[in-house]
Amino acid sequence: MSVANPPTMRVPYSYLQKQFPADVRAAILADIDRLAESGDFTLGYPVKEIEQRVSEMMRGKLEPTFAVGVANGTEALILPLRALGIGHGDEVITAANTFVATAGAIAMVGATPVLVDVDDTYTINPEAIERAITPRTKAIIPVHLTGTMADMDAVNAVATQHRGITVIEDAAQAMGATYKGDHAGGRSHAAGISFHPLKMMNVWGDGGMTVTRWGWMDEKLRLLRNHGLETRDDATIFGTNGRISSLQAVVANHGIQRLPWAIAKRREYAALLDELLAPLAPRVKTPIHHDGVKPTYATYIIRAEQRDGLRAHLLDNGVDVKVHYPVPLHLQTVGRNLGYAPGDCPNAERQANEILTLPLNEYLTPDQLAYVAESIHAFYRTR
Ligand SMILES: *Cc1c(COP(=O)(O)O)cnc(C)c1O
Repeated sequence: MSVANPPTMRVPYSYLQKQFPADVRAAILADIDRLAESGDFTLGYPVKEIEQRVSEMMRGKLEPTFAVGVANGTEALILPLRALGIGHGDEVITAANTFVATAGAIAMVGATPVLVDVDDTYTINPEAIERAITPRTKAIIPVHLTGTMADMDAVNAVATQHRGITVIEDAAQAMGATYKGDHAGGRSHAAGISFHPLKMMNVWGDGGMTVTRWGWMDEKLRLLRNHGLETRDDATIFGTNGRISSLQAVVANHGIQRLPWAIAKRREYAALLDELLAPLAPRVKTPIHHDGVKPTYATYIIRAEQRDGLRAHLLDNGVDVKVHYPVPLHLQTVGRNLGYAPGDCPNAERQANEILTLPLNEYLTPDQLAYVAESIHAFYRTR
C-alpha cells in the first residue's frame, strides 16, 4: 500500500511554460513584429536563417549538409520519401516501437510500413532489418527514439549489402545527438527533425526540417514543399504545401540558441540518475547506448520490474511519470490491419511492459532528481 502522507516534493513532467522566459518572449515578439512589418511571410527571411543555422550545426566532416524547412516532423519524413519516388508497391522498414508518425509517413506516400524489432537501446535491430528485406524494400527508417541513435554503421552495412537501399533517419527526437562525431543525418541520405513542443528544439506550434547530403534531394525537397513551383508560373512536378511557417521560423531561430545548453543539462542530469539508480540493477535498468552515441535525452526511459506498481507509487509521491509507448505500433489497430500479431516483435513487446519515462528536463533541480531516485529506491525496499 502506498503511504497516505502527501508527497514531500512534486516533480512535474511538463516544462513547456518554462521554455520561453519573459526576456526571450519579448525578443521573439519583437522579431515577429519585424516580420509582420516586412510582409515576408511565405518562405521569408527567418526560414532562410534557420535553414542556414541548422545546416551549419549539422555539417558533416566531409560533405555539405542541406537543410530544408518544412511544416512539421512528419512532413520532414514524407518529403524525402516522395523525393525518392517511393510509393505504391514499395516497402519501407522501420522500428515497431516508434511514434506512429514514422509509419504514417510511409503509408502517406502509398508505401507499406514494415515494422521490425528493436534492441535494448530502444532503436532498430539491424538483424531484424536483414530478415525483413524483400525485393520491394526501398528504404530503411531507423528511429533515434529517446534521442539516442540507432547503430548507424550496422544499419548502413545492411542497406549497402542490398543494392543500396536508402537510409532516412527519423531524428524527430534527436536534434543535437551525435554518432561517432556526426550529427543525425550525417551517416545517411536524409533525416527528418521535428520542432514540436515536446521535441528537443521547439517552436510555438509545428515546424520541422529535412536535412540531406544530396544536392539533388535538396532541390527536389524545395520543389515538393512548395507545389513543385520552379518559378512563380511553372510547376515542374506535383508537390504540396509543406512549408515551415515564417513565424515559427522566427521562434526556431531563438530556440536553436538554447539547444546546446538544454542538451548539456539533460546529459548531466541523466548521468546523475544513472548513478543514483545503479544500485537497483538489475531490477531497474538505466538507458544504454551504442558505442560512440551522445544522446539528447529527449526522454529518459528506465526498464523496471513491477513497472505498474512502481508507476502508481511514483505518481502517488508526486513524481509525474509516463510510458512512451504502452502499445507497440505493430499491435495497435494500424499494425494489426497490416497483419501483425503478438510475438512478431518480442523485444518491443517485452519493453512495452517494463518501460517508464522519468521526468528529466533542463529546468529540474538536482534535488528533484535525487527525490525521484529516492522514491524509486523506497518502492523496491518494501518488496
Ligand atoms: C514527434 C515525432 C514525429 C513527428 O513529428 P511532428 O513534428 O509531430 O510531425 C516523428 N517521429 C518521431 C519518432 C517523433 O517522436
